[in-house]
Amino acid sequence: MQKTISRPDYMKLAQEKVELYVPKIEERVGIELGDVNVRGTLHSIVPLANHGISLLIHEVPSSAVLMPVLAQLIYTLTAYRGFFPGEDPAFYVPHNHTIYLNMRKKVIESIIMEENSLDELIVHELGHHLWFKLGGYHNYLSHEKEPREKLMIEGFATYCEYIWFSDFYPDKRKRPLNSFGNPNYHAGALRMVRFVQEQGDDVLLRVPREWRELGRATPLLGEEIMFSTRAQVEAFEGQIIATD
Ligand SMILES: [Zn+2]
Repeated sequence: MQKTISRPDYMKLAQEKVELYVPKIEERVGIELGDVNVRGTLHSIVPLANHGISLLIHEVPSSAVLMPVLAQLIYTLTAYRGFFPGEDPAFYVPHNHTIYLNMRKKVIESIIMEENSLDELIVHELGHHLWFKLGGYHNYLSHEKEPREKLMIEGFATYCEYIWFSDFYPDKRKRPLNSFGNPNYHAGALRMVRFVQEQGDDVLLRVPREWRELGRATPLLGEEIMFSTRAQVEAFEGQIIATD
């Protein structure tokens, strides 16, 4: 794989990946994903604005109509300025169906150097878009208040990335079940594995709407506890099954 790439070429490549994977995912799940945009960003204001808008829509559901317009304006004004927080290579903003790519050179290089890495990244973000399509705002925006939601959302996207759609990648090697990226994502992905084992593939299309009920009916277990954050474990308190 190549080691360097210009920002415009990286963006073009990412857009091509979106165009490649959207129809494949649509065909597999039988859901129309609609338009998904890709934008580059170097700044922190986008995630901050996203967070603020998300909280506002969560508190005042009627603002969901106006907020996407405001969001678009903020994102347009801020493109390519400031800096991107942390090393996250991308994040998905539901308000304008957009995948924002971290355009810092170091981050781009780390993605480009590894086979399948950009493919996995785009499929993960499309997993968030799929969740949003299936679950809507009501099931996307309460991360701060509902630690279980984050576990489910990241677990869902990680399951999309490493299992559900992994046979689409140019290099079809399967990842072992113990390497789903960051620990919290790993815990969430393991929950998806359990849901599918217990209820079949169809459960995945229900997760974005029914994660609360499914979460309650499926207590945290073993590795899921180990890799969850303290807040998540506490949110499940009273329903943890002790294992030796
Ligand atoms: Zn994610």
